[in-house]
Amino acid sequence: ATPTAVMVGTGVGASQGVLIKGGQALESAHKVNCIVFDKTGTLTVGKPVVVNTKLFKNMVLRDFYELVAATEVNSEHPLAKAIVEYAKKFREEEENPVWPEAQDFVSITGQGVKAIVRNREIIVGNRSLMLDHNIAIPVDAEEMLAETEEMAQTGILISIDREVTGVLAISDPLKPGAHEVISILKSMKVRSIMVTGDNWGTANSIGSEVGIETVMAETKPEQKAEKVKELQSSGYVVAMVGDGINDSPALVAADVGMAIGAGTDIAIEAADIVLMKSNLEDVITAIDLSRKTFTRIR
Ligand code: ADP
Ligand code: MG
Repeated sequence: ATPTAVMVGTGVGASQGVLIKGGQALESAHKVNCIVFDKTGTLTVGKPVVVNTKLFKNMVLRDFYELVAATEVNSEHPLAKAIVEYAKKFREEEENPVWPEAQDFVSITGQGVKAIVRNREIIVGNRSLMLDHNIAIPVDAEEMLAETEEMAQTGILISIDREVTGVLAISDPLKPGAHEVISILKSMKVRSIMVTGDNWGTANSIGSEVGIETVMAETKPEQKAEKVKELQSSGYVVAMVGDGINDSPALVAADVGMAIGAGTDIAIEAADIVLMKSNLEDVITAIDLSRKTFTRIR
């Protein structure tokens, strides 16, 4: 392709909300034959909502949610925001509830959060967070988790003073058209893979809803990048699509990193292409544009 063609290509991309950072990014995209998708905020809408609560101890929901919100209000994670938002429902008399102070707040990447609230130790997160704190997961909590994951929702465990007190079910539906995008990619001979920090149960359910067979769950940020490198060494030209801080190592490792425009600044900086409208269809727009620019018959 001539420099002019590349300029035209990036220009057309920009006019459609596909920001291509330079000719190299545009060129690499036409060779892509495998795409690694992040789940949360990439395949899913990324605006999770609490849809169910189950308590295993005799406790008033309002008091329970006060402790949980006081802990989660210190976290930037989308799940934390969903939980705090939901907790407000039990404090409707206040416009902006003031949560009790949390001491010794700690955020454990890919696992959850903990803090001391009203002299009680609150731990909120996934199974592995509980295991790391030697907290047993009772059978009824495990059952609730299984049901939740079956429905493609995420189950969050809440421990108060080292006892699992409740489970929250959080729903984050697929983006509209996600399934179609995956099947169009298939027809374009592009293989799709999903990697997520979320648990295996939820990941597999989302995978089958969207039509992605290869799923990797409970991954740490470095493992997402390792997966990209592994695919590259088995001969694939790999694009990574993600929105989070935890996706940035993989976005850098990929032949083409694509960031969701609504994602974090760090992901946007790490990417070669930014999908400004945050639409998944624009993954196809980018590849199409690159194919048109670089596979023209000369
Ligand atoms: P993803 O790759 O889906 O964006 P993360 O790596 O950010 O996921 O988180 C993985 C898992 O860790 C979440 O699914 C959740 O179970 C748990 N987790 C992370 N942060 C929090 C939080 N602030 N509150 C509760 N759970 C959390
Ligand atoms: Mg994400």
